Amino acid sequence: MDVQQFREFGKAAVDYIADYIETIRDRPVVPTVKPGYLGELLPKEAPQTGETWQDVLQDVDRLIMPGITHWHSPRFHAYYPTANSFPAVVGEMLSAGFGCVGLSWISSPAYTELEVVMMNWLGKLLDLPEEFLNCSDGPGGGIIQGSASEVTFIGLLAAKEKKVKDLMELNPELKEADIKGKLVAYSSDQSNSSVEKAGLLGSMPMKLLPANDKGQLTAATLQEAIREDKERGLIPCYVVACLGTTPTCAFDDLAELGPICNREGIWLHVDAAYAGTAFACPEYRHLMKGVELSDSFNFNPHKWMLVNFDCSAMWVKNAKYLVEAFNVQRIYLKDNHNGLAPEYRHWQISLGRRFRALKLWFVLKIYGVEGIQKHVRDQISLAKQFEDLVNQDSRFEVCTSSMGLVTFRMKGDNALTRALLEKLDQRKNIFLMAGHFCNKFVIRFAICSRLTNSKDVEFSWEEIHSQANEIIPLPKC
Ligand code: PLP
Repeated sequence: MDVQQFREFGKAAVDYIADYIETIRDRPVVPTVKPGYLGELLPKEAPQTGETWQDVLQDVDRLIMPGITHWHSPRFHAYYPTANSFPAVVGEMLSAGFGCVGLSWISSPAYTELEVVMMNWLGKLLDLPEEFLNCSDGPGGGIIQGSASEVTFIGLLAAKEKKVKDLMELNPELKEADIKGKLVAYSSDQSNSSVEKAGLLGSMPMKLLPANDKGQLTAATLQEAIREDKERGLIPCYVVACLGTTPTCAFDDLAELGPICNREGIWLHVDAAYAGTAFACPEYRHLMKGVELSDSFNFNPHKWMLVNFDCSAMWVKNAKYLVEAFNVQRIYLKDNHNGLAPEYRHWQISLGRRFRALKLWFVLKIYGVEGIQKHVRDQISLAKQFEDLVNQDSRFEVCTSSMGLVTFRMKGDNALTRALLEKLDQRKNIFLMAGHFCNKFVIRFAICSRLTNSKDVEFSWEEIHSQANEIIPLPKC
């Protein structure tokens, strides 16, 4: 493909994306294809001779589009949002065009330097304590990782190395393997699946402690688990607190959990993957009270902050623990920046780094702080609109409502809510997820697309309402 063809292909692709977004509201949210559909439609081998870009784009429309789930449809209410905005899409395009791999400062200085500045902008936007920022005098700093899962895992590995080092300094006769075999981690049973997975990957049992009836891990529960484990000879090492749990967007109380972790020498990691974006608005910052007691903090601009996947922001109070845990040197990785830039490869799993800071910069520049705040506030008010609609129907109950997420159910037996969700799944006009709360089957309704407006919420409620009528007819007035 020559440069002229690239210009034509690229422009046609941008038009294709723009048309897609413009028509997304009219598409059924969930595809109707069956498993294996694409294998039957595609040739069994790569073509012997190259085809034209027009063929490729036609194939996208004919073969790929029918198998796309429309995450950015205003009627997509499953999971949590995954971000998408035009500035971020263009940022991804340019980053692919530059095509560098930022494995060291000199491998592309702008990669590292923009990331350092963006993590300062972002930290200030959320009003994180100064000591977490790259621009502070201390050893703290921020980095963009690929996902919250990765961050939780990296935090666990750093906590493990720190604990081993601390204990061996105090007791030189101890053996590393003996310490590692006794380490234990904690989170609540409401934490994301990735938290349990971090424990599995890091060979550290992750105890999922029972949350209270508000979905929070309490200080008493954590303290008791630590006491029991210490009595058994185990070594508490890592706690993952959640600000915005996946099932109900509940917030653990950092001001309660933090002092316990600090006292016990346990690394406290904060997973605010979805809800962290809300801290851009001062009125929600009370929900992160006590954040200064944590060792690492994470949220995903790729969830609620309009930056396309992947972009997961991680701050640590002391980057030394990451560097000590992950530092592997080679002659070809030598840099000559005299310590004026972080060696981000020591803060992460892979060697190569994407230019994620570019799309983040575009979003922050083009939306501005006010644009991000408006986005958060609009989405929360749409969730409130939905909550009010549910509350007006006496057959339903709202179970939880927090940020852009409402969980609700039909009153009575769980089977009613299950039947309702099945009907909605079959019709594919809106997309919702099942959940559990306090041993009850619930439906999660999340405001996900940045395109969702008040009329879309009415549409989604009308769809739910009409299907509920088939299960329990509306009571006659
Ligand atoms: N933590 C929470 C609270 C989440 O809701 C999710 C995903 O929804 C994750 C972590 C995992 O995020 P990621 O896909 O970036 O690993």
